Amino acid sequence: MLGTIRVGGVISGASPAYNIEEMSYALKTAQAKILMTTAASLSVAVPAAQNAGIPRKHIFLLEGDAPGYTTIKDLLKIGDKSGIRGQVLPFQIPPGKTNKDVCGFLTFSSGTTGLPKAVMISHQNVMAQCLQVQQVTSPDHKKVLAVLPLFHITGLVHQMHLPVLRNAEVYMLPSFSMESMLSTVVEYQISEMLLVPPILIRLLRDPIVAHYNLSHVQKFSSGAAPLSSEILQELERRFPSTGFKQGYGMTESCSCITAHPLDKCTYNYGHRGGTIVANTEVKIIDPDTGRELGYDEPGEILARGPQVVMGYLDNEKATRETFDEDGWLHTGDVGYMDREGFITITDRIKEMIKVKGIAVAPAELEDLLLGHPMVEDVAVSGISDDYTGERPKAYVVLKPSFRLEKDACTLVKLARELIDYVQENKVRHKWIVEVEIIDEIPKSASGKILRRVLRKFEYGKNGED
Ligand code: AMP
Repeated sequence: MLGTIRVGGVISGASPAYNIEEMSYALKTAQAKILMTTAASLSVAVPAAQNAGIPRKHIFLLEGDAPGYTTIKDLLKIGDKSGIRGQVLPFQIPPGKTNKDVCGFLTFSSGTTGLPKAVMISHQNVMAQCLQVQQVTSPDHKKVLAVLPLFHITGLVHQMHLPVLRNAEVYMLPSFSMESMLSTVVEYQISEMLLVPPILIRLLRDPIVAHYNLSHVQKFSSGAAPLSSEILQELERRFPSTGFKQGYGMTESCSCITAHPLDKCTYNYGHRGGTIVANTEVKIIDPDTGRELGYDEPGEILARGPQVVMGYLDNEKATRETFDEDGWLHTGDVGYMDREGFITITDRIKEMIKVKGIAVAPAELEDLLLGHPMVEDVAVSGISDDYTGERPKAYVVLKPSFRLEKDACTLVKLARELIDYVQENKVRHKWIVEVEIIDEIPKSASGKILRRVLRKFEYGKNGED
């Protein structure tokens, strides 16, 4: 990745769990020209590359061997022969540009609405964010556990660039398991663990944890999704001598907008999202009127700073909707600032569903389900889940021929068919867990799905307001 950036290339990460269709979408949207993958992923990578117009000779293997493919080792040999290996190639910003205008990374996000888009992250965004987060990182934190995916902004910044800047060591797992994570933490005496809420929950629930002596761990960090106060209290009880911090941000802010300052990394502050990172402005507005709100008044969070990204690749409309003329990023998150300067996130007004900290775009699942022969109309929304945070649920209007008097048993079968259909076509974290057959999808006069109505409907069922 760093080599590509150095020679002026752009990196776009993708999940190794994607299927052919998802990988083709990612490659096409990012306009990828070269694909670096592993031999184990070729069954998805080759057809996806073909769909995206990437020639076979532009597929390189980072791991493993397969006949007819060039490996990273072959590339190094070619470099050796040509004598360029080891030379320091200066990074060149094209004439007339600055590091603010040169895109280094394309990372996917659905933004406030619609399908996943390629977020253009500049060289300056990454450098600024690393400097901002460095200020709230303990100088002793020299061993970084890398269990979060590098295709997500948290992994990209906190597990790759920030450790390089801080000259810290990175302990990367080839793939996640509780055993490999815990044994790495014990073997290398890693004292600070950056995790996402579902892994923190597993630390409390998984019996395997009792087999590892984690008494050297000094701090847990969490981000990417909300963490409940109950879990925080349990964590403190189970690991009483540890500190705790959170970061709040999004792909469009190249990770953090807020984070816990070093002197406030305690469980008392744990449920809050942190204070604003350096060189960043935040304002909180009433999403209906745009009026700026004061302390303790919840509203949409807007952020401005050098970490706010360039926009969405080839998507002027979505860029204008999310990044306003004055440089403010409209986060689509609801929260408030208290008098100590901490921001607490209370809700989300954008469409995004967060499953284990990974964003799922309802529009992507709606597009898929609309292609099913039984479905006349559909809306997908998140329902809460103790372990994953949220899970997608589909509200479906059936085509007239399927609407005939249906007994409960047939409806369950129809729902199962739709759940299976999503499982066959999408990666696991996007799987819907529930289908509800309804008569009509609530929509605005302009035809936009009224997701808040769906969510209210869901809460109403649990007796909540
Ligand atoms: P992503 O672009 O995938 O990083 O998703 C960003 C979204 O995740 C934010 O807009 C929030 O809705 C949510 N999020 C990130 N960090 C936190 C946090 N600390 N607490 C609550 N929600 C968060």
